[in-house]
Amino acid sequence: MSNQKKITQPRIGIVLSSGGVRGVYAHTGFLLALEKMQIELQAATGCSAGAVVGGIFASGTPVQRWANVLSTIKPGRFWRPSWFRLLWSLLARKGRGYSGFSSADSAIEFCTEQLRVQTFEQCQIPFHALAINITTGKKKIFSEGNLARSMVASAAIPVLYQPVEIDGDYYSDGGVIDLAPTDTICCKHNLDILIVHHATQRSTSTSKLNDPMNSRWTLIEILNNLLFRQRPWYLSDKPVAVRRCPCGCNAFVIVIEPELPPLAWPVTNNGPQVLQSAQEQTELYLKPYIEMLKGNAEIPACSVDELETEAQKTGCQG
Ligand SMILES: [Zn+2]
Repeated sequence: MSNQKKITQPRIGIVLSSGGVRGVYAHTGFLLALEKMQIELQAATGCSAGAVVGGIFASGTPVQRWANVLSTIKPGRFWRPSWFRLLWSLLARKGRGYSGFSSADSAIEFCTEQLRVQTFEQCQIPFHALAINITTGKKKIFSEGNLARSMVASAAIPVLYQPVEIDGDYYSDGGVIDLAPTDTICCKHNLDILIVHHATQRSTSTSKLNDPMNSRWTLIEILNNLLFRQRPWYLSDKPVAVRRCPCGCNAFVIVIEPELPPLAWPVTNNGPQVLQSAQEQTELYLKPYIEMLKGNAEIPACSVDELETEAQKTGCQG
């Protein structure tokens, strides 16, 4: 087979999608599974929830310690809406300068506490976080400087959070333009294998469009459906799928899209169940590839399907 190659230790990168609070728990479960399976990683990237968990992991914080923090966390640690400020802003300033319910400060403070090192440069493996520059509307990949600030910028859902200022520019949730930024590490870190953990809540059928109107945080559900509606190139609607990088490096791409219990933002109550479910599914779905991931078996040549043709148009916009 022409695109099989004999390897010893493959270079593996992970991509963590956006996914709100539910995604934070899910990605943590995913990382616990990788750790348990002793899969070594050479690069990581994430967007929104994936940027928060990925940054904490890349900084060297033990995943189990982070999971313990998550098991008791209350929403007030990362979201502090000020209703008084909203009223004052609307009445006295006609909404001028009002850019979101909550400042990102509490989230930045919380993330800073969870990090073992405070900059991208000090991370144990290369890490990148995706955000959107709200002035230019273009995507911004953070790879250097203050880690916590960039992680939270990547996760600052518009309207819910005020945009985060970094070096004079303002940034919001990168999931608005890219749910999982595969191209920030693929073709850039000489990777043999890419594992995408996709934990974004899906809105798959028209009947589901009625659900937001009945959910506890209707505004957030509507925002979620509108902002994060695009479909990434790698999805297949199967819990696990394999692909090849369509952008040049031909890396073997494993996509895990777990079925997870619902968890409405910003509720954290059944987060531990989401975490456990994601961990179990990661172990299950990666089992067939474990020898390959550890360098004991060759990377198989997988068939190119029709999605990859579409991917060549949409997945490679570095
Ligand atoms: Zn690639």
